[in-house]
Amino acid sequence: MTLTPSHIIQYLYCPRFTFFEYVLAIPQYEEKNYKVMRGRELHDRKLEQNKEYLRKRIGAVDKHLDQYLTNDLIRGRIDEVLVLANGTLAPLDYKFAMYDNKIYETYRTQLYCYAWLIEENFGKEVRQGFLVYTRSQNKLVEIPITQEHKNEVKAAAADIFRIIDKNYYPKATKYKARCLNCTYRNICAQ
Ligand code: SF4
Repeated sequence: MTLTPSHIIQYLYCPRFTFFEYVLAIPQYEEKNYKVMRGRELHDRKLEQNKEYLRKRIGAVDKHLDQYLTNDLIRGRIDEVLVLANGTLAPLDYKFAMYDNKIYETYRTQLYCYAWLIEENFGKEVRQGFLVYTRSQNKLVEIPITQEHKNEVKAAAADIFRIIDKNYYPKATKYKARCLNCTYRNICAQ
């Protein structure tokens, strides 16, 4: 079994979600705010025309489209893996969403997971990722990716396996506001 970036995002929101959902098998409701919305089915001709322009703006010298990558712990499908002039690689993800002046943690985490997958599969370093907001005139946003970011998602993946394989009951989220509307509030001794 491997994890998806959604598992990591869920764990980083609250590690106990992982326990309740995958150890006790109590499902959550669908509309949780950490869900990753994808625009994969998007058929936008204007976007297709814009893609080459966006890659040029980024300074990409080559590209690998629609990459399904795995390693020992996670898997993910990446819209584009761009080769930059300095030899590093960068994930690019199209969001069928409006840009509202902030980058959601979920989007960042997803890119950190992709960076990990790309480094292991391509053997080259990833130092940044890109988001394109297709509902805001294809606004392009660059997200820096440090070793610390990659380590964070690696540690999360290892801990998720510890929870699932060893029935380990993790700590509650430190953000108490998240408990207020939580599906698991009644069974979780925060
Ligand atoms: S109630 Fe709080 S600590 Fe418990 S699962 Fe929900 S968010 Fe996490």
